[in-house]
Amino acid sequence: MEIPFLNLKRENERYTSEIREAVSRVINSGWYILGEEKNSFENEYATYCGVKHCIGAGNGLDAIRLILMAYMEQGVMQKGDEVILPANTFIATALAVSQCGLIPVFADCDITTYNIAPESVIEKITSRTKAIIAVHLYGQIAAMDQLKQIARQHNLKLIEDAAQAQGAIYNGKKAGNLSDAAAFSFYPVKNLGALGDAGAVTTDNEDLARIVRSLSNYGSDRKYMHEYKGLNSRLDEMQAAILSVKLKHLDRDNQRRKEIAAYYSENIKNVNIILPDNKDGKSHVFHLYVIRTDNREQLQLFLSDKGIQTQIHYPIAIHKQPAYSVSAGLNLPVAEQLQDEVLSLPLYASLTDDELHRIVEALNNY
Ligand SMILES: *Cc1c(COP(=O)(O)O)cnc(C)c1O
Repeated sequence: MEIPFLNLKRENERYTSEIREAVSRVINSGWYILGEEKNSFENEYATYCGVKHCIGAGNGLDAIRLILMAYMEQGVMQKGDEVILPANTFIATALAVSQCGLIPVFADCDITTYNIAPESVIEKITSRTKAIIAVHLYGQIAAMDQLKQIARQHNLKLIEDAAQAQGAIYNGKKAGNLSDAAAFSFYPVKNLGALGDAGAVTTDNEDLARIVRSLSNYGSDRKYMHEYKGLNSRLDEMQAAILSVKLKHLDRDNQRRKEIAAYYSENIKNVNIILPDNKDGKSHVFHLYVIRTDNREQLQLFLSDKGIQTQIHYPIAIHKQPAYSVSAGLNLPVAEQLQDEVLSLPLYASLTDDELHRIVEALNNY
């Protein structure tokens, strides 16, 4: 039996009846955009994260863009200003910056946590730097205490890209409540995933929240009155209703992810394989379980022969992407090492113990 990298059908089938009920409710309401379901989910998710405001958006990329656009409307930053972000993240983090006319500045990362390295952030700060985007990569919270201190010292905004870390807790606070503003994606594969595109912004800042909300709806908070040049990026009623269902199960799903990760960490015993940092079990919700090895392609093939699918997040650091060829000359040794060594193992709440044991056995026989 094949073990897929992710079995989304099986993941969502666990909640079929509740999801069907939510979908029927939306169909029967006759109201599909900017309605009660979006309001409810926003309130539930703000409460869950412990923040004052949550604004639904069309996807995670737009959530990051909306935060940056709102800061630009506030005059906090302007075109040509610099935003520091890690070189090893999904490309959306960088694209959001570029699409706002801001300059993405790539920092290196930490070899044990894979997250942005505070020392590298400090090195990258210039007189044009206006913000740091901390990505909670693979579900592990970035070094927010240090980043917060750096941001305060240099008068920078600190933004979370929390697309991979719904529900993660750091010093008693949830992802989305650890910075000036946070962006979430609810793309189907995320820990909290919709059945289509969806995203959100969370913040405690009322003025920022108001501008983000307006920008997400054509820069308008009253019909046909447009204060800003906004986007059309709204969390629709169908996805909001589905997310309300899945939010109720998020903590339990994350608990199962942590159990699986703990099993991997305790039982994979192979000198050729380096396991991810899991010292602080609490701040990691294991969106991905990412190992490192010298000969990754060989290991991937070996597992594939045994019917075990793996993936690579991410095979090309952003400064090595054709789209960012202007940054190709940067020297970011850790990000470049990671791109060549990382391999993501199957990890999702509906992975069975049998499957888990088979994966560990295969890794130990490699
Ligand atoms: C998924 C993801 C995004 C983008 O989310 P979309 O909803 O696909 O736009 C942004 N940043 C990170 C780190 C992600 O994993």
